[in-house]
Amino acid sequence: TPGAPPALEARNLVKDFRGFRATNDVTLGIREGEIHAIIGPNGAGKTTLFNLLSGFLTPTSGEVRLFGERIDTLAPHAVVRRGLSRSFQISSVFPTMTVRDNVLVALQSPTRLPGQFWSRLSALDALGERADRILADVGLGSAHARLAADLSHGEKRQLEIGISLTQEPRVLLLDEPTSGMGSEGIARVTGLVRQVAQGRTVVLVEHNMSVVAELADRITVLQYGAVLASGAYDDVRRDPRVIEAYLGD
Ligand code: ADP
Repeated sequence: TPGAPPALEARNLVKDFRGFRATNDVTLGIREGEIHAIIGPNGAGKTTLFNLLSGFLTPTSGEVRLFGERIDTLAPHAVVRRGLSRSFQISSVFPTMTVRDNVLVALQSPTRLPGQFWSRLSALDALGERADRILADVGLGSAHARLAADLSHGEKRQLEIGISLTQEPRVLLLDEPTSGMGSEGIARVTGLVRQVAQGRTVVLVEHNMSVVAELADRITVLQYGAVLASGAYDDVRRDPRVIEAYLGD
């Protein structure tokens, strides 16, 4: 919709760590429904920006807005309640629980509204059905009874994405979803990201440029904590400053 606020927006975002500026006046808009990749060399500030956008870090100055409303002043669970959810690069699954129980626990997370919580407790069957649907959606239907600890690296990522989906996010943030994977895992997770992006907005930090090329509608390139370029994938990858920054890395 023309004139609609971006799904997620950073305005003049700054983050200082003891005098070191890790995020330097970042302004960017993520449009509703797009897959947006944040890329850049090591140390460029991708993780810091990701943490600022998801409410896990408080900016030194500047604003983060979700569908036009400020969220940088809210606690992480309140941000989740407004429709933004993230997966963690460091695994957030309970290793000694089954795959299905991990999803069931997440479905009963206290970040949900109290009313939803009680109505779900009174409808455990519905909860189980939802868990099974999410597991099928992330390709873990036949793995439901396995212990999370026994999953492969790629399957753990699938489970983490499934856990994020329990919060019914309108905007999903994925931190390096394919890191540490072989080509088979990369292909599986890439397909999964494309699938979960249907009907929602996805922001991902990603190192693998062929994954970026395959998934991203638009990209933002960070360098020294600042936005070097942002726009349609095909435009940004031809930007001479972007080519120079990567060749010089
Ligand atoms: P990227 O994810 O692009 O590799 P990061 O956001 O992790 O970059 O880091 C950007 C810069 O900020 C790095 O120089 C890093 O050392 C620094 N940095 C990140 N987090 C902290 C912190 N908690 N304290 C001090 N410096 C930090």
